Amino acid sequence: MTSVRPQENLNPSDIAREQFNIAADLLKLDESMRAILSVPKRQLLVSIPVKMDNGIVKVFEGFRVQYNVARGPAKGGIRYHPDVNLDEVKALAAWMTWKCATVGIPYGGGKGGIRVDPHTMSQGELERMTRRYAVEIAPIIGAHIDIPAPDVYTNEQTMAWIMDTISMMSGGVQLGIVTGKPISLGGSLGRAEATARGCQFTIREACKVLGINLNGARVAVQGFGNAGSIAARLLHEDGAKIIAVSDTKGGIFNPNGFDPAAVLKFKEETGSVVGFKDTDRITNADLLTLDCDILVPAALENQINLDNAHLIKARIVAEAANGPVTPGADRVLFEKGIFDIPDILANAGGVTVSYFEWVQDQYGFFWTDKEVNQYLEKTMVKAFHEVYEKAKQFKVHLRTGAYCLAVERVAEATRVRGIFP
Ligand code: NAD
Repeated sequence: MTSVRPQENLNPSDIAREQFNIAADLLKLDESMRAILSVPKRQLLVSIPVKMDNGIVKVFEGFRVQYNVARGPAKGGIRYHPDVNLDEVKALAAWMTWKCATVGIPYGGGKGGIRVDPHTMSQGELERMTRRYAVEIAPIIGAHIDIPAPDVYTNEQTMAWIMDTISMMSGGVQLGIVTGKPISLGGSLGRAEATARGCQFTIREACKVLGINLNGARVAVQGFGNAGSIAARLLHEDGAKIIAVSDTKGGIFNPNGFDPAAVLKFKEETGSVVGFKDTDRITNADLLTLDCDILVPAALENQINLDNAHLIKARIVAEAANGPVTPGADRVLFEKGIFDIPDILANAGGVTVSYFEWVQDQYGFFWTDKEVNQYLEKTMVKAFHEVYEKAKQFKVHLRTGAYCLAVERVAEATRVRGIFP
């Protein structure tokens, strides 16, 4: 992988603050509003004792942060990872605030996590840890307060355990307490594909404004998991030529393109995309700098940084992953005229369909796949053009355009609500 130059400060809290400050300066936010929007509303730190299968009790550290709830209940995932810490959760909660505001869904931003390596635990241990965490954060979550969802190394089973725990404690069925639930438990059709589909809609709009024909456009996708593999399939269905994809084991390349559905089947059988027929093996670093029209980073953060930004040849970068482009690289891409669709827009399809799930749970009335996708398209296309216009207004790149739009919306909601008491 590419190494990141030491002069780049990649502390997530610092990056989040810098992105906010750039927008706040452009919007000429007054000091009081800056002070309110610069800090999380609420931060909860909990200890989670879990009786392990061998009878020993281990205590894990858990977090839940609500960054801002001016526009609606806090919304954001729960991450199980050994590197989770309060600083990271705060930054992720801030990003959720700006993401929800960018696409105009009536949520604030939150995030949670447990500092743990879930791969070392049995299902029973994971269930006990999740249920105890749910109880510890129960005082501050709720369908109209804060609605968690899956994130790194959590999934629909995790959400089902949280929903059940809170339901048992309250004596009623609490469908709206979390999203990303199984379909059998109030989940939404279309949720599994939503992030990639939202990304596809923003790429279509970017192609329109740039005069690029998506049919035949050459696409490289870094990361072949939920977001990346589905984005590759959907863009292929739009006629794009998928010329490279990668996973942790490396990448594959064929300038004439290949069928991403066949690659997914191959990956399911062999554990990697590497070795797929009629392709050359490339590294993840090579993939990022390929001559292509559209680059979709869909794996990890900080992949495009000051080391490689000047080598990027794509005309469009669509950030399916969270934080794949560093602030330093942002400036380089902008100067090179590369159209970077920022994460808070490009991957907001996931939280948008989470919102649809919550709406359906409130109504107890569920939509078809087609209806979910139509509403998603409407939301993403509208958000894309609002961000594009903001960026043009301030003569900035799309990320700052999105931040200006989002910060303005949150500031306005905060202003009209006033300061309590
Ligand atoms: P995932 O675990 O399903 O897939 C991740 C993929 O990236 C895997 O194929 C993995 O092999 C690959 N990968 C990991 N390290 C890599 C590396 N160093 N180089 C190349 N590939 C590597 O995860 P996902 O749900 O697809 O999420 C991917 C990104 O998208 C994350 O940044 C996530 O935060 C973001 N995202 C996902 C969703 C969603 O709904 N799934 C929503 C918003 C944002």
